[in-house]
Amino acid sequence: MKRKTMITAIATAVMMTTVVPAAFAQTGTPTVAAPAAKSVDAQAAAGNALKAEAAKYGFKSDLSDLQLVSTTNTLGGTIVRYQQTVNGEELFTHQVAVTLDNAGQALLVTSDYVPNLTVETIKTKKLTENEAEAKALADLNVTGGASAMNSRKFGYVVENGKAVPAFKVVSHNGEAEVESFVHAENGKVLKKRDLHQNVNGTGKVFNPNPVRTQGSATGLTDNSNRDSTALTNQLKAVTLQGLDGSGYLRGSYVYIKSKANTFSSTNAFNFTRSSSSFEDVMAYYHIDTVQRYIQTLGFTNVNNRAITVNTNASTQDNSWYSPSTKDLTFGTGGVDDAEDAGIIAHEYGHSIQDNQVPGFGATEEGGAMGEGFGDFMGATYEDAVAPNTAFKALIGEWDATSYSSSNPPTLRRLDTTKKYPTNMDGEVHDDGEIWSHGEYDMAQAFGRDVATKIILQSHFSLTPNSGFANGVAAIKAADQALYGGSHLTQLNSIWAARGL
Ligand SMILES: [Zn+2]
Repeated sequence: MKRKTMITAIATAVMMTTVVPAAFAQTGTPTVAAPAAKSVDAQAAAGNALKAEAAKYGFKSDLSDLQLVSTTNTLGGTIVRYQQTVNGEELFTHQVAVTLDNAGQALLVTSDYVPNLTVETIKTKKLTENEAEAKALADLNVTGGASAMNSRKFGYVVENGKAVPAFKVVSHNGEAEVESFVHAENGKVLKKRDLHQNVNGTGKVFNPNPVRTQGSATGLTDNSNRDSTALTNQLKAVTLQGLDGSGYLRGSYVYIKSKANTFSSTNAFNFTRSSSSFEDVMAYYHIDTVQRYIQTLGFTNVNNRAITVNTNASTQDNSWYSPSTKDLTFGTGGVDDAEDAGIIAHEYGHSIQDNQVPGFGATEEGGAMGEGFGDFMGATYEDAVAPNTAFKALIGEWDATSYSSSNPPTLRRLDTTKKYPTNMDGEVHDDGEIWSHGEYDMAQAFGRDVATKIILQSHFSLTPNSGFANGVAAIKAADQALYGGSHLTQLNSIWAARGL
């Protein structure tokens, strides 16, 4: 940016002798537009306009703290923009814009200039840019160090009528972009804001799946992904929160990446299940909802990021979380996996655990705990959305119509008689039924919220090689930390029943 000094220097060359004060700008018969004013003349005219308005807005008579930012020719005239400065540094976000018509006549002055500021001085030591950035990132709970994309700039912010020295730090974390103002001496984050414009959209989903909401699987079949009246009847209208406004299914907690590349300029995403976009909407809505639920429990650092989700990205009847890319992938074999919220929440469970303890599940027991926790997440989510005792301890009833012979169909049960170690067979999904049963019993005994809170808290205490015994110890420690151990007696009996 160039300093504003040229304005006063050129002021003598003004072609105008009078400036229409903005408040009294006349509206008359439109005249034929003249070519835009030359920028030199425009700056001079704008300078005169500012001087004419100085008393009204409190500008200094010499305009010495207004720095020229830009001169922009537009269809309807020229806009000359200034930045308010303090000690030659930017007073963040405070600008003045002068609008000139095509004849170079001042039409309007728009100002967020703050007059008569007292300036806070740095008494001992000014933070370095790196220190300021570290403070901003710590405040946002961002781990893993600074990103090369983060930007830092020294200037001033207005706080309680004072100009306070501060660094503006714009940090990037996943899809999030946050502007923080950090006090340049004490490192306190004075204010921050999310730079992404989040909007809510609308969409239609199965919630959690058509078998649960219909009350049975009768008449519901995949039929090679075709629509049917029975399935369309189970669509529910929902609000899609936190979209970034791009028109794509990208938001605070979910970033959909798919061949369908689903887009809506009005953020209205109404599809039936035969459309590939339907799975995009399902994945967005349910993952966003589960993450928001976790945050209502008080956890702001459990997988709090925009997770990339590849829907319909495999023709297998399988879905997975990748610990290397940190992405989720949903397959289309049988019923498309992302048509069932139980399956979506299960997979999201894997990403939660890896986020809390990177590398978790290095042992067979750890793997089984991962599958069991995923089933707990899926089943308790389904129970919360569509409570119905006929589906107690079941998960993924719609997905399961293509392979389960039980009635209602289910991916697995969370109430098997399996015990440790007798019924271990070395396959993580099978052995996960021991773990999911214990966790599901916790939800029955304490309610979903308390159980989920204890379980999520317990994950933080684990290590990549943790097994069942470590998991139970961590659950009891979490209950001690969160609830003073008030659930210990029940926890003892719940886990003893599973042989743990
Ligand atoms: Zn799994």
